[in-house]
Amino acid sequence: MSLFEVVDPATEAVIERLPSATADDADAAVARAAAAFEGWRAVAPADRSRLLRRLAERLDAERERLAQLEMRNTGKPIGDARGEMGMVADTFAYYAGAPERLLGDTIPVAGGVDLTFREPLGVVGLIVPWNFPLTIASWKLAPALAAGNTVVLKPAELTPLTALAFRTLAEEAGIPPGVVNVLAGPGRVVGRRLVEHPGVAKIAFTGSTEVGRGIMQGAAGTIKRVTLELGGKSANLVFADADLAAAAAAAPMAVFGNAGQDCCARSRILVERPAMDEFLSLLEPEVTGLVVGDPADERTQMGPLISAGQRETVASFVPEGTPVAIRGSAPQGKGWWYPPTVLTGVEPGDRAATEEIFGPVAVVLGFDGEAEAVRLANASIYGLSGSIWTRDLGRALRVARALETGTLSVNSNTSVRVATPFGGFKQSGVGRELGPHALDHYTELKNVFIAT
Ligand code: NAD
Repeated sequence: MSLFEVVDPATEAVIERLPSATADDADAAVARAAAAFEGWRAVAPADRSRLLRRLAERLDAERERLAQLEMRNTGKPIGDARGEMGMVADTFAYYAGAPERLLGDTIPVAGGVDLTFREPLGVVGLIVPWNFPLTIASWKLAPALAAGNTVVLKPAELTPLTALAFRTLAEEAGIPPGVVNVLAGPGRVVGRRLVEHPGVAKIAFTGSTEVGRGIMQGAAGTIKRVTLELGGKSANLVFADADLAAAAAAAPMAVFGNAGQDCCARSRILVERPAMDEFLSLLEPEVTGLVVGDPADERTQMGPLISAGQRETVASFVPEGTPVAIRGSAPQGKGWWYPPTVLTGVEPGDRAATEEIFGPVAVVLGFDGEAEAVRLANASIYGLSGSIWTRDLGRALRVARALETGTLSVNSNTSVRVATPFGGFKQSGVGRELGPHALDHYTELKNVFIAT
């Protein structure tokens, strides 16, 4: 049995050594999930609701322990980890209401009655990344289970700890054996087996666009349902009429939150040229004042990157000699630290302005007027999120409709809410998570005609 190490990115210390799941383990997990499916889908909707509510309560009761675990395994600040674990419990509480609300239609037709039903898919494979480990898993687990599916969850190799803790909490809440399975192991072995397995009906994936492309190809062999939440290079559009102080205060955490390892990172800050100088002078103290350091400290706003490899990738976007407009602080010594960095001397076609960096590096570009703002913002293969800062409501709505992106905020840097749909346009993905819309992706629509 081979073991893999789970490491604290703030100290580089090994937290745990875990057995690495194999392709055979994936087959066994799919078999367990398949055996549990008929029983789970037959649980009365009100009882499934009750079990999911109990699970939400267990998650809430264990919130602090889970937050500490997530903080140590990812290096994210403890305040952020607590917020995320709150969202995990809220996501289960929200979808606990779904089993009795999976409504169908009655459709007027000639010669009879036509009914539609929302049926569960069967065994669903959930493959998640390391940046928001349990949060992103919960966005998939809760609607999948509420709709009557059984699941096999594969967390990222770097961050398996909260997923493993979740499995125990699900058991304690009374979710029947085999309904929730968790496999900690490498994506190219365990993930790939789930993607190609004929017994898996759907893959819900969050991760990089590159791996997502491979998943779509791998799923084609069995015509699996696939939802993909992929990369981003989102724009933060600041118009000259905006509350510039508010826009500058919000911009750093819109890209440096989670050390920039956020698919929603507004990593392209587009500023209307007449406001550029004032915006940059307001932005500077906001960036240099960010508290970067010990994730366990309540005051910390930014922790380390997830791994040495991730830091190397991020650093490759700012090679020696690159002029840096604003640079924040970062601890020296152990841990994979990288300072918040703002670049201004970048052209729209440059690598730093087009590729997802997934680290604390933002580029600032100028524009003149609405048309150029929209053109620049849309000049990306991605379309996940974005922000618009303006006092003109008409402009906010015009620009929002013109942007090719799935999740926008106006005069705000936030992206996700349990009750609202989240997902991307273009190469940022397929499908939507959260809100009522996610349930469509965990059910098949069945049509039944009854002759009268
Ligand atoms: P990744 O694509 O490398 O890995 C994601 C998951 O896929 C991991 O569990 C990994 O083990 C697994 N995997 C890897 N190769 C596989 C294969 N061949 N077959 C099946 N599974 C495989 O992504 P990451 O580095 O963990 O996360 C960062 C990426 O995730 C970024 O691109 C980011 O934008 C994206 N992301 C997107 C969202 C969103 O909602 N759109 C949210 C968070 C992260």
